[in-house]
Amino acid sequence: MLKLHPSIDNGLRKGSASFAGGTLSCKCASNPVQVQITGNVAHNHACGCTKCWKPDGAVFSVVAVVSRDNLRVVSGADKLQIVDPSATIQRHACRDCGVHMYGRIENKNHPFYGLDFVHTELSREQGWQEPQFAAFVSSIIESGFPPAKMGDVRAQIKSIGLEPYDCLSPPLMDAIATHVAKAAGKLAA
Ligand SMILES: [Zn+2]
Ligand SMILES: [Zn+2]
Repeated sequence: MLKLHPSIDNGLRKGSASFAGGTLSCKCASNPVQVQITGNVAHNHACGCTKCWKPDGAVFSVVAVVSRDNLRVVSGADKLQIVDPSATIQRHACRDCGVHMYGRIENKNHPFYGLDFVHTELSREQGWQEPQFAAFVSSIIESGFPPAKMGDVRAQIKSIGLEPYDCLSPPLMDAIATHVAKAAGKLAA
């Protein structure tokens, strides 16, 4: 078995539909950045892109979305800095431990505006939605993963019960295309 990410390597832990939310903490032993999330996340997934935060040794990130109205920095806000201000998703990371606490889209015209990206593994609470699929699988090669092992990676992801995609999942790709079509007047808004 390849080590892909701790949240998927030993099977999936089913989330709870009635989960009330929890608190994400960065890895700092003292004065950690803490982010409170109300309610559960959605579209939780493994991501192979080069931008999402990954724990040490992981090939994938596991990242989900939450309404930005349901996310609040409750401590250590002064330690947050934006990793790349020019990126579409502005990832707010702890400047001391490097963990990304949330990613935010400030472009109001972006299809995912209003959603923040978070890593539920930073919380001790149980009940977060389990990963639903794997996205940007081919992109792990960009971080140096051997191309010859991609068949093994996809087979392992499928064996966990997740579908490996090389972009986002079909519902999310459809949502993006619908947003673009409405903006272009090809579909009724
Ligand atoms: Zn930290
Ligand atoms: Zn990613």
